[in-house]
Amino acid sequence: MSLKGKIVFITGASAGIGAATALAFAAEGARLLLAARRAGKLAEVASAALERGAEAVHTISLDVRDRQAVQQAIGALPAEWAKIDVLVNNAGLSRGLEKLYQGNVEDWEEMIDTNVKGLLYVTRAVVPGMVERGRGHVVNLGSTAGELTYPNGAVYCATKAAERAINDGLRQDLLGTPIRVTTVDPGMVETDFSLVRFHGDQQRAAKVYQGIHALTPEDVAEVIVWAANRPEHVNIARVLLTPVQQANSLLFHRES
Ligand code: NAP
Repeated sequence: MSLKGKIVFITGASAGIGAATALAFAAEGARLLLAARRAGKLAEVASAALERGAEAVHTISLDVRDRQAVQQAIGALPAEWAKIDVLVNNAGLSRGLEKLYQGNVEDWEEMIDTNVKGLLYVTRAVVPGMVERGRGHVVNLGSTAGELTYPNGAVYCATKAAERAINDGLRQDLLGTPIRVTTVDPGMVETDFSLVRFHGDQQRAAKVYQGIHALTPEDVAEVIVWAANRPEHVNIARVLLTPVQQANSLLFHRES
C-alpha cells in the first residue's frame, strides 16, 4: 500500500513520538493532519514535515480532553482534509510516580482524561467516516505499562491497560469492514515523557534514562509507518518493542 497522498491524522504531534511519526509519514509523501495543544511546536513540526516530503500539512490546536472541541475540529475539517485514511491516537502522558494511596487525584484525572477519554473521543469522531468510506486504519499508542503494572504507576498503567482493551474491542467491532486496528506498545522511549511526568523536574527525568540506551521516537515512528504500509488485507494487531536493556515494564539492565 502506498502512503503517498494518504491523509494521516496524528494526535500529540507537537513532540516526541507524535512529531517523529509526522516526519516518518512525511517522508512517504502523506498529507498530514497534526493536532496538539501547543500551536508553536506544531508549526515547527509542520514546516519540518513539508521539508521532509509531506504533500500538505494542516495543523489543529486541540486538547483531546475537550469532547466538544474534538467533535467540532473533526466536523469542521475542510473537504480536502475530511477523508482521514490513518488515525494515530498518540496524545498521552503520565503524571506523578507515587504509591496509589498517596497519589495526586488531579494527576490521575489528567491521565485518564487524556489517555483514555481523549483517545475515545477522537476515535468516536473519526472512525464513522472510515466505516462509511470503507477505508481506514487506526493506530493506538499503548505501552509495556499496559501489560504489566509497575510500582507507583498504577493509574498510568491502568490507562494503558484500558487502551489495550479499547484497541481489541475496536478491532472486534470493526470486523466485517476493511478498517484495520493496531496497537504499538513501546517500552522506554527517550522523549519529554518523564519531564512531563515529573512536572518539569529535569534532574529526576534524566535519571529515568541513566545507563540505558532507550528507544528513540524515530524507532517507534518507523514501526507505526511499517504497520500502516502493509498490504490492505494484513492487519498488524500489536507490536511490542523495547530497548535491548529492558525485559518488561519492571526489569531493566542499567550500565553503571
Ligand atoms: P511527549 O514527548 O511528552 O509527547 C506527548 C504528546 O502528547 C505531545 O505532543 C503533547 O502535545 C500531546 N498531548 C498531551 N496531552 C494532550 C492533550 N490533552 N491534547 C492533545 N495533545 C496532548 O511523550 P511521548 O513519549 O512522545 O508520548 C507519546 C505517547 O506514547 C503517549 O501516549 C505515551 O503514553 C506513549 N508512550 C510513551 C513511552 C515513553 O517511554 N516515552 C512509552 C510507551 C508509550 P501538547 O503538550 O502540545 O498538547
